[in-house]
Amino acid sequence: MEKIIIHKEQVKILTDSCEKAYPYEVCGAVLGHDDMILNVRILGNSEEESSSRVYFSISPMDIYKIEKEAEREGTELIGFFHSHPECEAVPSAEDIKHMIPGMISIIVGISKTGRYPERPLFSEEIRGYVRESIQSGIKELIIMGD
Ligand SMILES: [Zn+2]
Repeated sequence: MEKIIIHKEQVKILTDSCEKAYPYEVCGAVLGHDDMILNVRILGNSEEESSSRVYFSISPMDIYKIEKEAEREGTELIGFFHSHPECEAVPSAEDIKHMIPGMISIIVGISKTGRYPERPLFSEEIRGYVRESIQSGIKELIIMGD
């Protein structure tokens, strides 16, 4: 795997959910086929979970439900995403430890910009990674629009 293709609408769902959760972390699942992301499901944010490590608390029940849903819509669970508020879209040591071989890992770095606190602006950077097998290292993927 070298690249990921993501639809504009899915990019919007990703960035909107990151902005809504800010300054907390948000996480979710990405559905699609092979290297193509067709759907994004928000699973929670760290405010709800009262933890900053929400990404690592995706439960087996969540995964079961997502897989059923994917099956119904004719897609597959191909990976996960989470945000890095005020932090680069680069996997942490903990992120790397939790990466499932063959699954895409999308990280959205989000930072607040702009001069007026009452009208926050955000800038986001979306990056994707994969670990092909347990033995292999982490590889950054090229993200392409559709
Ligand atoms: Zn992370």
